[in-house]
Amino acid sequence: MREWPHDGVRCPTTTCTRPVPAGRVEFFEGTLATTAEIESARVFDTTLRDGEQAPRTSFSYDEKRAIAGTLDDMGTHVIEAGFPVNSDAEFEAVSDIAASTTATTCGLARVVEGDVEAALDSGVEMVHVFASTSDVQIEDSMHATREEVVERSVKSVERVKEAGATAMFSPMDATRTDEEYLVEVVEAVTEAGVDWINIPDTCGVATPTRFGKLVATVREHTDARIDVHTHDDFGMASANALAGFEAGADQAQVSVNGIGERAGNAAYEEVVMTVESVYGVDTGIDTTQIADLARAVEAYSDVPVPANKPVVGDNAFAHESGIHAAGVIENSDTFEPGVMTPEMVGAEREFVLGKHTGTNSVRKRLEESGFAPTDAEVREVTRRVKDYGAEKNRVTAADLKRFAREVGVAREESEVRA
Ligand code: MN
Repeated sequence: MREWPHDGVRCPTTTCTRPVPAGRVEFFEGTLATTAEIESARVFDTTLRDGEQAPRTSFSYDEKRAIAGTLDDMGTHVIEAGFPVNSDAEFEAVSDIAASTTATTCGLARVVEGDVEAALDSGVEMVHVFASTSDVQIEDSMHATREEVVERSVKSVERVKEAGATAMFSPMDATRTDEEYLVEVVEAVTEAGVDWINIPDTCGVATPTRFGKLVATVREHTDARIDVHTHDDFGMASANALAGFEAGADQAQVSVNGIGERAGNAAYEEVVMTVESVYGVDTGIDTTQIADLARAVEAYSDVPVPANKPVVGDNAFAHESGIHAAGVIENSDTFEPGVMTPEMVGAEREFVLGKHTGTNSVRKRLEESGFAPTDAEVREVTRRVKDYGAEKNRVTAADLKRFAREVGVAREESEVRA
């Protein structure tokens, strides 16, 4: 592996694992240079809270501890460990995570005394209190009035501050909240001393431009730090989180594999890698553990990761088609982002054999398996691979060896001995 930095801002090969320096991103050695729109980015992980609220998902105590341990080890800034008032088991898990991690641990609470006290008792450093601010949720979920929401929110924030914990407040459903009322709530909790205001796109209706404007508006009315929480109902959770950063948010809430309510949250791996690779901002997170973390959360959550999922899907760094595979074999920057490599996330590049395979992949795979094929043999094995793949068969390593034997390809060892 080559040392970084060597001869420029960006390693033109794909063997470097270090991110580009903050403030500058270069694609293809300077043909397109740009200045990053964000200066820093903190990551608040809610895999154990919103992530666990994914339908049909429940983590055991050991699974919660394991996920929190990895997130902590990777350098995640905040771990929302759960909703302490929910049950004794939940309280214990949150409490033990708070005691055993160096990351800031956060506990969720409604603007209800019992919730806030349970969160404080669990020993978390940050209490995340939330209240609905959209009329539809105030009326048909909280069964309260706008005035009561302001009053209870202020009281809860004051209690958290009085207990010496960090207070985060969420005006739930902010993106469907009357803006004038949202500003009123934001100003009230700011006056109560809130440290963080989280802006939740609870039902996933935001677009990047609109969400960025909302974040900028909230910023004008508070000196608290801003955090964003986005949902993927229209597939824009990560884009909206990044728009939040661009508009001045300090932190985004994410979950591993994007699991969470309904279509889920902004994905940890997508947001972290975009910030690192595309914006060129160092989050301080050890990204090389992302693939392992994703696999663990997939197993514990029972939410399968789609093959085409960015960063962590089986196909994220896999190539089958002849032109792409040939290019990537020569230089992986040809048909991969270049600024993100499998090594950076602890994954491996894969050349898949199938209907679209070309001779370069076949030659490479044959040589890796110890064969020394002639050009004609490579062409013949490739024809067999394509025919077999076209019939919807998966072409395995064993199939390839079988084709090689059928075609009579010589083994490399016999050549060496001869
Ligand atoms: Mn949510």
